[in-house]
Amino acid sequence: MSSLNKKYYSGSKFKRSISKKTLDVVNPSNLKILGSIAIQNKKEVNNVLASLKKEQLKWGKLSTLERSKELHNVANQIDNSNLKELAKTMSQEVGKPITEAYGEIANVSSAIRYFAEMARNEGGNIAGATQSDSLQMETKEPMGISAHILPFNFPILIMIWTVAASLAAGNAVIIKPSEQASFTSLIFMKFFDQLSAKVVSCVTGDATTGKAIIDHKDVNIVSFTGSAETAKKVYQSCAENFKPCHLEGGGSDYMIISDKTDIDFAATAAITSSFHLSGQICTSTEHILVHSKIYNKFKKLLIKKFNALRVGDGLKKNEIGPLATITAYNKANNIIEDANAKGALITYHKDKKRIDSSKGYFLCPAIIENTKSNMLCEKDEMFAPFITMKSYSKISEAIKKVNKSKFGLGFNLITKDLEEALYVSRNIEAGLVWVNNPLIDNDALPFGGFKKSGIGRELGKMGLDTFRQTKMVIVDNEQKKHDWWYPYSNKQFRD
Ligand code: NAD
Repeated sequence: MSSLNKKYYSGSKFKRSISKKTLDVVNPSNLKILGSIAIQNKKEVNNVLASLKKEQLKWGKLSTLERSKELHNVANQIDNSNLKELAKTMSQEVGKPITEAYGEIANVSSAIRYFAEMARNEGGNIAGATQSDSLQMETKEPMGISAHILPFNFPILIMIWTVAASLAAGNAVIIKPSEQASFTSLIFMKFFDQLSAKVVSCVTGDATTGKAIIDHKDVNIVSFTGSAETAKKVYQSCAENFKPCHLEGGGSDYMIISDKTDIDFAATAAITSSFHLSGQICTSTEHILVHSKIYNKFKKLLIKKFNALRVGDGLKKNEIGPLATITAYNKANNIIEDANAKGALITYHKDKKRIDSSKGYFLCPAIIENTKSNMLCEKDEMFAPFITMKSYSKISEAIKKVNKSKFGLGFNLITKDLEEALYVSRNIEAGLVWVNNPLIDNDALPFGGFKKSGIGRELGKMGLDTFRQTKMVIVDNEQKKHDWWYPYSNKQFRD
């Protein structure tokens, strides 16, 4: 990564940061240093924003058709490029299996195209007028500059979900990727070189850089995706600045497995949605509730499929890579030790002895039973290759358990019973409900959570409106004095 060391992207160019503070990025699969990023300070952030402000004026004045064409050209270039360097860097930075890195990138251009078209589909709404000969409407306008503060786990897709919406709406964007995924994000920036206005910038850094961006007077809206704890801090900073924000926080999703299911299907769905990206997806299944009638049969099959997963370097043929950072690794270790100490029954992956954490942040995946509410695995988002498993006998009992969670991001139900599917999806408190199809999203449908999992939505029309201002406009083409205007006539005076 030496060519991108200490670099940032502004004015459609890579520039070298003058910040003296840097951070080494460690490859979690082998603990080698990939390079170092700059912790950019307030002064550099101010310069980037001053340039963005001028460029936004040009971009915001383009017609929606012109912006749409430019965004389609970005998508075309992505579709026609060799994305090997991008996928490989993502795998090296965050430990993501390379197949999943390519899988993430494969969904990027469709989101750009969706917003390119969506923004020209409608620019507001004309209301039925309350007075004759009056045009009474709602118009949608750019907000100015949007900030995008991002997590490590989907550095390109999650970035593009909000960045494409904001650009399509006519804004300029400042991106602050995760410390752990900055090189991946910077490599992607080259696709924006071609825009006629230099409206995309990407600065590197930590919480101080993020805070400097949020506090800047020219940032008009903040879009944040990350943990619930950071979301709260970002919300507080936005409140101090009286600034709108869109927050995508953490989750600790449940999966209910009904007795009305094919058991092999249920076990495959469960391991995929729990262990994908080593359990480091905001919508990873962390808790499984299995109907008591099939519990033992399901458990046996789950353990068989679980043991067949391969743990190792994401650049080789493995399903489960390392955790992304030492902090994540230590937190996960603490969760399993806490469960162990408090009497949980833990089934470790069969390769426990072979999994070598001295060579990378590799953790032994585990299935945890006999959990209690005072254990960390029940209290918090685990974000690790662990699942808890319990049985239930009545669906109402299972729904009650799910709804007790402080989070409300995603939820999965595995059933063949349509009546049960509709009943459960209506009664679950979560922003994303999947029946027999975990982890899937759709550019055209809003993505986000209930409760402590977030505020607002990305994707879909709501995801575009997050980055647009709404204005009420009333235009009378004829200068007609209305009967309620001053001065009042004698008849209009009341006691
Ligand atoms: P994180 O909260 O540690 O960091 C996210 C970003 O916030 C980083 O860029 C970080 O530098 C920045 N940041 C940290 N403190 C800040 C502050 N005080 N002010 C401004 N910026 C600050 O998250 P992470 O570990 O990178 O990502 C994992 C988390 O993200 C998990 O909790 C996961 O559930 C969540 N997530 C949620 C969604 C969703 O759609 N709801 C999607 C992906 C990830």
